[in-house]
Order: sequence, then structure tokens, then C-alpha cells
Amino acid sequence: MDIYNYNTLELVHKYGFRFTKTLGQNFLIDNAVPRDIAEGADVNEEDLVIEIGPGVGTLTAQLLQRAKKVTVIEIDRTLIPILEEELGDNEKLTIINKDALKVDFNEIIGEEKSVKLVANLPYYVTTPIMANLFKSGVKFKNMTVMIQKEVADRMNAEPGTKDYGSISLLVQYYCDTHIVRKVGPNCFMPRPKVDSIVIRLDRLEEPRVKVLDEKLLFDVIRSSFNMRRKTLWNGLKNIGLSKEDLALAFENANIDPKRRGETLSLEEFGALTNEIYKLK
Ligand code: SAM
Repeated sequence: MDIYNYNTLELVHKYGFRFTKTLGQNFLIDNAVPRDIAEGADVNEEDLVIEIGPGVGTLTAQLLQRAKKVTVIEIDRTLIPILEEELGDNEKLTIINKDALKVDFNEIIGEEKSVKLVANLPYYVTTPIMANLFKSGVKFKNMTVMIQKEVADRMNAEPGTKDYGSISLLVQYYCDTHIVRKVGPNCFMPRPKVDSIVIRLDRLEEPRVKVLDEKLLFDVIRSSFNMRRKTLWNGLKNIGLSKEDLALAFENANIDPKRRGETLSLEEFGALTNEIYKLK
């Protein structure tokens, strides 16, 4: 199909495509949305764009109009012949039939200098992919994802609010966020029950706070939120320090151990992590 006149509904009918609910298959049918995503992702002719979950290629067609190269990763093998038939003769495009949770992104990126990621995926896939990409130091400039509105609220939440949690800290540690647009259920086929948000995560040159051990930071955060209603002391008593040293770490970081995890800012988590690290 012509990348300038891509039509999701037509393709779904042409190939008699059957949607698999468990793969989160809600395809965009309103062409304004993929256009806004490609623009919001700030894609230009220097970029390798990695698109996770292309479906029948609706967003891919928009990316191909703007990028140097586009690599798509699609788990559903029944979509591969459709992508090949409709977009396969475009030299910019590489199609990979794999679970995005199992691909080696560094291998895909190779020597490319300007890499951007775009994904419209189910939440249970988006979050682990995001966390892995950030933590494993894969070099990309930004990642633009379609997520449920509630998840976007959690990413942007401030300490002490009900939405604040480990995903807020993960995102705020590694990036700035920028809301691209809201997407209502009518823009999809089949229609989902909830509103979605397209959000761009711009990777910071350096993480927002300096910590001596990044893995320990996320262990401390996870342990502090594991017991949401309990004190930090209870959450962190198994972090690997004696009671005396743990008390000292709290004292040195100037944090009351009776506080709860959800009241701590990223800076405070960083300070506490560094004091724990020094005593380990
Ligand atoms: N990008 C298309 C669009 O916007 O119309 C399709 C989006 S649809 C919400 C999600 C797509 O991700 C589906 O094509 C689905 O098969 C694919 N998908 C789901 N889990 C995946 C995974 N683990 N790895 C790669 N693709 C996946």
C-alpha cells in the first residue's frame, strides 16, 4: 500500500485479519494519530526508528516518510506477510518477527548514532521493555509510547500523591517527559475501554541524581514500595545492613526511618542509597 495513503480498515478486511486480544491488538484507524505520533517522536532523516508492535503497519508508514531507517519488531507471525506485502519493497524497512522482550536492541542498533523508539503495546510489555532499555544503557535519544492515561499519570507523579511509585522514579531518574497527545477509544479497532496518552520520554545525558550503585538504587526503591503502608525501616531491614548500620545510613542521609517510601523524593532515595552503599 502507498505509505501516503495507508488504510488500516482496508488492510484488516483485505487479509481477513483476526485480532488476538492477549497481544493487545487494538489498531489505529484514525490517520491523524499515527501522524501525530511520528511528529511527536521528533523523527527525522538521521534516525533509525525502532517500532515495537507495528500491527499492519499504520504507524510504520508514517515513520517511513520521515526516518532514515525503520526496524519493526512484531511478535504475531500472521502479521508478517501483511507487512512484507504492503511495505516490504521499501528499502528503509527491516521486519523482525520476534517477542520484543527477547530481542537484543544493541544488535539492532549496531553503529547507528541517532536512535529513537516508538511503541504502541500492551502495558505489561511496555513497562519491562522500558525498564530494560534504560537500565541496560542502550543508547537511544527518546522513546515515544502509547499508554493508558493512568500509567502516564503514574510516570509524572510527585512524591506523596497516590499515583507515585517505582515507575515514577524510574522514569524521572532517566528522562524528561513530554505528553504528545490524548487518544480516545474511537481511534482504535477494536475499541479499548480506556483513554490512552502518547508520551515521549527524552533520555537525559546523565541520570537526574548521582548514585554510587544504580542497581542498589532500584533495590532500595523496590523494597521501599513493596510494603506501601509500612515504614521505610520495615521495607529496608533486609537490604543487607545490620540494624545499627541501617540506623546510621538513615541518620547520615537525614531521613526519618518512620517515613513511608511514597513520601521520598528521587534525591532522597539517591542520598539514602549512597549511605547504604558506603556501609555495605
Ligand atoms: N502499531 C499498530 C497500530 O498502532 O495500529 C499496532 C498496535 S497494537 C496496540 C500492538 C501490537 O504489538 C500488535 O501488533 C501486537 O501483535 C504487537 N505485540 C504485542 N506484544 C508484543 C511483543 N511482546 N513483542 C512484539 N510485538 C508485540
